[in-house]
Amino acid sequence: MGNLKKKDVEVYRTIVDETRRENDNLELIASENFVSEEVLEAQGSCLTNKYAEGYPGARWYNGCHNVDIVEEIAIERAKNLFGAEHVNVQPHSGTQANMAIYFTALSLGDTVMAMDLSCGGHLSHGNPHNFSGKFYKIVPYGVSHETEMLDYDEIARLAEAHKPRMIIAGASAYPRAIDFKKFREIADSVKAYLFVDIAHIAGLVAAGLHQSPVPYSQFVTSTTHKTMRGPRGGFIMCKKEFAKDIDIGIFPGLQGGPLMHIIAAKAVCFKEALTGEFKTYQKQILNNSKAFSDELSSLGYRIVAGGTDTHLFLVDLTSKNITGKDASSVLDKVGITVNKNLIPFDTKSPFVASGIRIGTPAVTTRGMKEAEMRQIAGLIDEVLDSPNDGKKLKAVKGEVKKLVKKFPLYKNLIKRLEKE
Ligand SMILES: *Cc1c(COP(=O)(O)O)cnc(C)c1O
Repeated sequence: MGNLKKKDVEVYRTIVDETRRENDNLELIASENFVSEEVLEAQGSCLTNKYAEGYPGARWYNGCHNVDIVEEIAIERAKNLFGAEHVNVQPHSGTQANMAIYFTALSLGDTVMAMDLSCGGHLSHGNPHNFSGKFYKIVPYGVSHETEMLDYDEIARLAEAHKPRMIIAGASAYPRAIDFKKFREIADSVKAYLFVDIAHIAGLVAAGLHQSPVPYSQFVTSTTHKTMRGPRGGFIMCKKEFAKDIDIGIFPGLQGGPLMHIIAAKAVCFKEALTGEFKTYQKQILNNSKAFSDELSSLGYRIVAGGTDTHLFLVDLTSKNITGKDASSVLDKVGITVNKNLIPFDTKSPFVASGIRIGTPAVTTRGMKEAEMRQIAGLIDEVLDSPNDGKKLKAVKGEVKKLVKKFPLYKNLIKRLEKE
């Protein structure tokens, strides 16, 4: 970034500082990850210059030869990875991918069943300020009071009562495995479309460590930047019969020119995801998530839904007399980044929340394993046990520093930055 340093030092500084922040902190936000330098290179390329409205072989502008090839590569790799009949790699984000499904499958005002946001659903699954909550009649389903897991009998009962045109499965903060085959049966029983949003778990699905929704649903969407460990963006998979409508739904339906540099980075991400190392990585994410939640549990924390089958879990802090908001703020002070999160049937507002969400994809990318997860759980416990003890916080901060040093991130990148 020598050029940027010379010509625009203000922006250069923020990038250097963010690289350092990512290296110096323990990133436990479940939706975040660290991409490879290869992904960064593709994203930072001149492909950002090219207008390519349309699809490979059928563009509105000339000069699309190279970007046609790269988009085709991305599509083929995604198809191979997930066994999908049709793939669209153009959505700028997960939300935009979801929007294309609503607009393709539904008429405005149709009834849609989706996971309640307070039980782990995503904004685009019916938040009243989101397009989904404004344009459609949302019937939320939640989790069982007793198990805090999906109650498929209750979902079937709701479907029977409300006759939705579409059922959405998938979530942002649900720690347990989801049975997409069961969702298919429920959708069939009321002749609804099944749309599965695997924004969070796509990496696990790609590695065969979570049931795939692709055989069971008309539509599947995902992000590429969470467990997939690719650039920030979205993609859509669907059955052949919807291919044309989905493509039109994205362009010209919702977007203009696709981000070709991001699509190139998505292609790189899909290639990485097709490797054995990626499978090993995903397996380690799961092992780490289990070891981490087990350790917190043995330290006296209540883990929502009794544990985790995924890359994330929720910690109920009620018995520890600290809110999610205060817990995440004090953890920030020692260099541990988590987010506050509602727990099922939370009595607090989303701005305060009774829990925190913890995810292992990012720390696993750094090479950390079960032993480090147990260590971090211990550090979190020390902080939450005495959040006002300045001396204790300082000591934990020192431990965090030591730990991140052992698992450097973007080592070469930082070295190069230091040389400039
Ligand atoms: C993260 C997420 C999305 C989309 O995220 P964007 O920020 O719009 O890319 C969609 N659905 C679920 C379930 C998610 O967790």
